Amino acid sequence: MEASEIKVLIVEDNQMNMMLVKDILSLNGYKTIEAGTGAEAIRLVAVEKPDVVLMDLHLPGLDGMAATRMLKADERFRDIPVLALTAAASRMETEEILSRGFDGCVTKPIDVDRLLEEIRRCTGKGEKGGRDKEE
Ligand code: MN
Repeated sequence: MEASEIKVLIVEDNQMNMMLVKDILSLNGYKTIEAGTGAEAIRLVAVEKPDVVLMDLHLPGLDGMAATRMLKADERFRDIPVLALTAAASRMETEEILSRGFDGCVTKPIDVDRLLEEIRRCTGKGEKGGRDKEE
């Protein structure tokens, strides 16, 4: 499967970050859809069935943690990989994030290579065998 067949839901309330992530993914051939809140993310997952979700943790209302908990508690959606987008300032340990049900973590400011690598790893599509987990 190619990037063009992969639909990424970006959940981010900061317009600058949203535009940045959307541009990176679009330039690399991915299809993107956008949500600005956790509630909108839940709704779009159900409607759009994305292949992977990029979830900002800090969102108005239902935050990224809660939204991810809801997705992972629902058998229809629990197999959809969710990558946490975390601000460096409020960075949680990767282990802590993984223990909350996330499938990976990308820190902001965004490292383009890291972001693309995590998406490939999670979707198991695109490039050959991505790393599984860091030691
Ligand atoms: Mn935010």
